[in-house]
Amino acid sequence: MKTAQQYIDSLRQRKVKVYLKGQLLDSQTLVDHPFIRGHVASAALTFELAHEPESEDLMTAVSHLSGNRINRFTHIHQSVEDLLKKVKMLRMISQKTGTCYQRCVGFDALNSLYTVTYEMDQALKTDYHQRFKRFLAHVQENDLMVAGAMTDTKGDRSLKPSQQPDSDMYVHVVERNDKGVVIRGAKAHMTGMVNSHEMLIMPTAALTPEDKDYAISCALPVDAPGVFHVFGRQTNDDRKMEGEIDQGNAQYGIVGGECLTVLDNVFVPWERVFMDGETDFAGLLVERFACYHRQNYGGCKGGVSDIVIGAAATMADYGGYGKAAHVKEKINEMIHLTETLYACSIACSAEGHQTASGAYFVDPLLANVGKHNVTRLIYDIDRLAQDIGGGLTATLPSEGDLRHPEIGPYIEKYFKGVAGVSTENRLRMARLIENMTGGTALVESMHGAGSPQAQKVMYSKLANLEHKKRCAKKIAGCKSETE
Ligand code: SF4
Ligand code: FE
Repeated sequence: MKTAQQYIDSLRQRKVKVYLKGQLLDSQTLVDHPFIRGHVASAALTFELAHEPESEDLMTAVSHLSGNRINRFTHIHQSVEDLLKKVKMLRMISQKTGTCYQRCVGFDALNSLYTVTYEMDQALKTDYHQRFKRFLAHVQENDLMVAGAMTDTKGDRSLKPSQQPDSDMYVHVVERNDKGVVIRGAKAHMTGMVNSHEMLIMPTAALTPEDKDYAISCALPVDAPGVFHVFGRQTNDDRKMEGEIDQGNAQYGIVGGECLTVLDNVFVPWERVFMDGETDFAGLLVERFACYHRQNYGGCKGGVSDIVIGAAATMADYGGYGKAAHVKEKINEMIHLTETLYACSIACSAEGHQTASGAYFVDPLLANVGKHNVTRLIYDIDRLAQDIGGGLTATLPSEGDLRHPEIGPYIEKYFKGVAGVSTENRLRMARLIENMTGGTALVESMHGAGSPQAQKVMYSKLANLEHKKRCAKKIAGCKSETE
C-alpha cells in the first residue's frame, strides 16, 4: 500500500495535461497549485490512514484476488460487513477532512464493473470479466487512485446520444482495429480526476441498439495521449491565492476539485476495454454505479455535517449564546438530520446482497432514498448552521485587515466575543461555516452521485406501489374491483 508521500510523488511522474484559468499547468508541480493542493491533501489521507493502527480495520481489506492486504478503496466488497465498513470509513475520513476525498468514485466504478462484466460474460459469452480482473489486480498491487468517469456532457437532453447534432456529446467509439478502439467525447464534473492515476470510462445512460458506439467502458491513464482536463472554478476559489483564514478549510478545500475531461481521439487497447457495443448492459452498469455511489452519501455527508454541527455549536460558544435554548434546539435538529442521512447509508449496506460474481451490492431502493435525502437535508443542516453562525459568516473583513498594523487592532476589538477566546479563532470558525455551507458545497450535495430526479425515477420504480395498494385494500376490506 502506498503512503501519502508515495501517492503524491507518483502524481508528479504523470505527463497529465491540466488547464486552469486559461493556463496549461506544469504536470510535475500542478499538485502544489493553490487551487489543487487541498484536493491532493484530502485524497492523500485515504493513503495515510491505511497505515495507522486505529484506522486500518476500516481503511484496509484482504484482496480476494491476491490474498494481500490492500487499501479498501481498491477492494471488491466480499460481504455485508465490507459494505458497512465502507460507510463507516467514509464518515471517519470526512470528520478529518470536512470535505470530499474523491477516491470513492473509482472505488464504486471498480465494484460496478466487476459485477456487470461477470453478468455480461454469462449472458453473451464475452471475456470482459477476466480482462477486468487483470486491470483490478494492477490497481490493487500498485494502490492506484482511479477516477470514475460516467457523466457525459449530454448536449440536448431531449435527444438520444446517436440523435445529437454533434456526435461527441456522449463519449463514443470512432474507430475499431485489431489493437483496440479509439474514443472521442468528454466527461464532465470529474471528481479527483487531476490527481488520479487512471480513469474508468462508463456510459452515462441506458442505451438502445442505435447507440451501440456509445456503449463503451474502458480504463485509461489520466495522461493518455489525446486526454486533457480543464479544471473547474469554485465559490471564492481566488482566496486560495491569498491568506489562510479566509479559505475556511485551507488544508483540504471544498468538494472534489472537479474538471472537464476531454477525450480527443484516444486509443484504448482491447485489454482495457470492458464493454463495447453491449447496449443491453449499459443501463445495468449505470444503475449499479449509481447505487454504489449513492450508498456513500450518508457516510461522507454525515461526517461533513458532523463538522458543520461542531462549527455552529463552537460559533455559538464563542459568541456567548451557546447555552440559549433555541440554539440547543437547532443543534439537536442538525444532529437528527445528520443521523437520518447516516442511517440510510447503513441500512442500504445492511440490506446488501451477493451478486452472481460473488461481490456484494447494496439495497438499491434504500441507497436512492438516502442520496435523495442528501439533496434536501444538507440544505436544512447548512441553513441552521448559517442561522446559528450569524451574519458574520457572510460579511467578515479579510485576514489582511486582521493582520494590518493600523486597522488590525480594530478588527480584534470589534469582532471579539466571549473572554478567553481570541478574535482570530472566532473568525476562523465563521469562515469554516461560510466555506462548508456555500455555493459549491451545496450544489455538490444536490447533484453529486446524480441529480434528485434520477433518484426519484429509481425509487419510484423499486418501491412496488401495487403491493402497497393491495395491502391497503385488504386492510380496508375492499371488495373485487371488476364489477
Ligand atoms: Fe466520496 Fe463523498 Fe467525495 Fe463522492 S462526494 S467522492 S462519496 S467523499
Ligand atoms: Fe460527490
